[in-house]
Amino acid sequence: MVTATPLAAFDWLRHEFGTRHTEPLTGRVATLRQTHSATVWTVRQSGGCLGDGDALITGEPGLLLAIRTADCVPILLADPVRRVVAAVHAGWRGTVAGILTQTLGQMRAEYETKPTDVVAAIGPSIGPCCFEVGPEVPLPVLERKADLWEANREQLARAGVGQIWVAGRCTMCEPEQFYSFRRAKDTGRMVSAIGIR
Ligand SMILES: [Zn+2]
Repeated sequence: MVTATPLAAFDWLRHEFGTRHTEPLTGRVATLRQTHSATVWTVRQSGGCLGDGDALITGEPGLLLAIRTADCVPILLADPVRRVVAAVHAGWRGTVAGILTQTLGQMRAEYETKPTDVVAAIGPSIGPCCFEVGPEVPLPVLERKADLWEANREQLARAGVGQIWVAGRCTMCEPEQFYSFRRAKDTGRMVSAIGIR
């Protein structure tokens, strides 16, 4: 698994970005049917699959928020002041739809999270080295390559997020470690998760 140094510093939370070799999660796990939307769910009690959406928020201890990715970007957020966490699935559609802005807005509305308190981690996903896109992708493109890491980092910075960690690991460049939908169409998915202990 891959962990983010600034999140690992908090002993009250657990987090991981999955690889091909990560063991399945155990315990109370909340998931979504991911649809490349900007739909955000706040989880107060139950685990299991809650419905359609691409981001999960909770302030509830003992619950893991999990998202699955192959090339899309997994992003984990923690507010150490309010003790609230979030897991976000951001492909290019979710990135363009502003899913991080939506998630931070909902954290503020429901838990009074200040973006300046938030620590964010952008996990392994397809990098600017490999993400060739056509005109259907309305993102800044340099030499036909789009940068989802930078687009999401910018979205967090614009919202005022204080600390942003970027794994900088490309799922297409590291076949030993990561599944990549674009490299092998029938690939598996990595599971990334965050929760309050
Ligand atoms: Zn790459």
